Amino acid sequence: RYQSLNGKKAVVPLYNHKVPILPHSSVDPEFGTGLMMVCSYGDWQDVRIFRELGLSPRVIVDRTGIVHDPTGIIPPNTSVNQAREIIARRLENEGYLVKKVKLTRTVPKCWRCKTPVEIIEEEEYFVKQLEFKNELLKLIENIEFYPDFHKERLVNWINSITMDWPISRSRYYGTEIPVWKCSVCGEILLPEPGKYYQPWKDEPPWSKCPRCGASSQHLVGEKKVFDTWFDSSVSPLYITKYLYNKEKALKLLRSTLRPQGYDIIRTWLYFTLLHVYLVTGQPAFRWVRISGMGLDEKGEAMHKSKGNIIDPEPIISEYGADPVRYWSAVAAKVGYDYKFNKNLLKTGQLFATKIWNIGRFISMFPDPGIENVVLEDIDKAMLETLNNYARRYRTAFMKFDTQEPTLLIYEFTWDLFASNYLEAVKFRAYNTDGAWSKNQQESAWATLHYVFREALKMIHPIMPFITDYLWRKLYGGTILTQKLDVPKAEFEFTKDYLMDDLVHINSEIWKLKKERGMKLSDPLPGILYISQRDEALVPYLKLLHKPSRIELVSVMPEEAVILGKSAVVLKE
Ligand SMILES: [Zn+2]
Ligand SMILES: [Zn+2]
Repeated sequence: RYQSLNGKKAVVPLYNHKVPILPHSSVDPEFGTGLMMVCSYGDWQDVRIFRELGLSPRVIVDRTGIVHDPTGIIPPNTSVNQAREIIARRLENEGYLVKKVKLTRTVPKCWRCKTPVEIIEEEEYFVKQLEFKNELLKLIENIEFYPDFHKERLVNWINSITMDWPISRSRYYGTEIPVWKCSVCGEILLPEPGKYYQPWKDEPPWSKCPRCGASSQHLVGEKKVFDTWFDSSVSPLYITKYLYNKEKALKLLRSTLRPQGYDIIRTWLYFTLLHVYLVTGQPAFRWVRISGMGLDEKGEAMHKSKGNIIDPEPIISEYGADPVRYWSAVAAKVGYDYKFNKNLLKTGQLFATKIWNIGRFISMFPDPGIENVVLEDIDKAMLETLNNYARRYRTAFMKFDTQEPTLLIYEFTWDLFASNYLEAVKFRAYNTDGAWSKNQQESAWATLHYVFREALKMIHPIMPFITDYLWRKLYGGTILTQKLDVPKAEFEFTKDYLMDDLVHINSEIWKLKKERGMKLSDPLPGILYISQRDEALVPYLKLLHKPSRIELVSVMPEEAVILGKSAVVLKE
């Protein structure tokens, strides 16, 4: 349609500038007139087309938002908004205006103060990144991501980069860019490293320009500061003290972890990988752990403007720091968003109370040490169960997840250890009527202490305060220096089914008693049939459930109320 216009010039009203008419792929011939007017800094689209067509922009707005118009149509000291009104009025008065319509369009605004953004031209410093894209993609193949799916975001980001990295900013606060420029020969001068320079106020560290010999008054200090990501992207080099011992730092980098949220994958993670690679030629980390975002109770992001910010201080005062940590550890799997949840805080609080009560009970008995006693079968089964949980706990933590290990150690401590094992062996630990031998009693004491110590160590990363406190009270010294003793090859006893069966039989009988409106301590009015392999459980089941008697069978009797692993015959 406009083929005949290609290469011709259009005249801009009021200014009479002649501007070229050119074809461009981003113009939709079906949209509007099929022609598009582009000005130097109208919006991002304009800037892009200017760059692609190689046009030279006309700079008229300075960084204070004042328009500089050499023709005088816009008087001096006029702001962008005032200038718009002046132009609109003149176009109308001089008969150029065809029509006026009200329309809505999107204008980019400052995220913070909502001021519309004007694009201005500035000279900036850039770090090369385009030519390293493929090397970076190769580099991250050797970095382990937890969870793996967040790696995709980084790969997509690297693939989408189309320009080098602008590292300078015109801000008040920031790390000064340590550079002087010679106003005579234009040389950019970099001082010796080792000192922090403030070029906007320091004297230049040269008496004359090292290149052209111009006197130092011609050396102009840089006023710009670094982009914040330029600073924060050196964090691994700073932490490993790269400047002081390169060899050691590089070794350390090969076993470092980057923990961070997915919101800064394109910034902190990407720029750190780029920066450290450019300086050292190697990956900044071995592992990257990407966490989700903490959200409010409804699952919405917290913002000051939305008024849904949850201040942690009152929550910590109300529930305690350990329950708050419990919530954040267990609320979601690594990589997923986690909602604020009062129920989980309460669960954490109840768990802390449970740990306290277990500690108080166990503190009544001395610890003879498991190596000094002949272990009872159920004690062996408890240690073996501890071993199995510790193995799963370690495996889960090796994936940098906190949810699974927390759920495991909660289940182990509360359901297995406290509700079942401890309830069963407390009679033997007290041994008030001397029904058990000294060794049998001490086997219970030793196992209780051993399991509790290992449980405290496993809970410690999640709930450090109560575990350290109890450790100091019961065992002396701090738990911080303790190493987990399990899993242990010596604990492969192959009798861990005893703990499983105890848990099942207990829960079946407790459920039955509840259904019949009985108290859990009420005697079970009937014969309890259990499998022959559970013979070692007989004394405990007698004390726990008080059945009229217990029979070991290989086949459950027909008239029995079958309860999974156990069977009860109830007297009517
Ligand atoms: Zn603003
Ligand atoms: Zn010079």
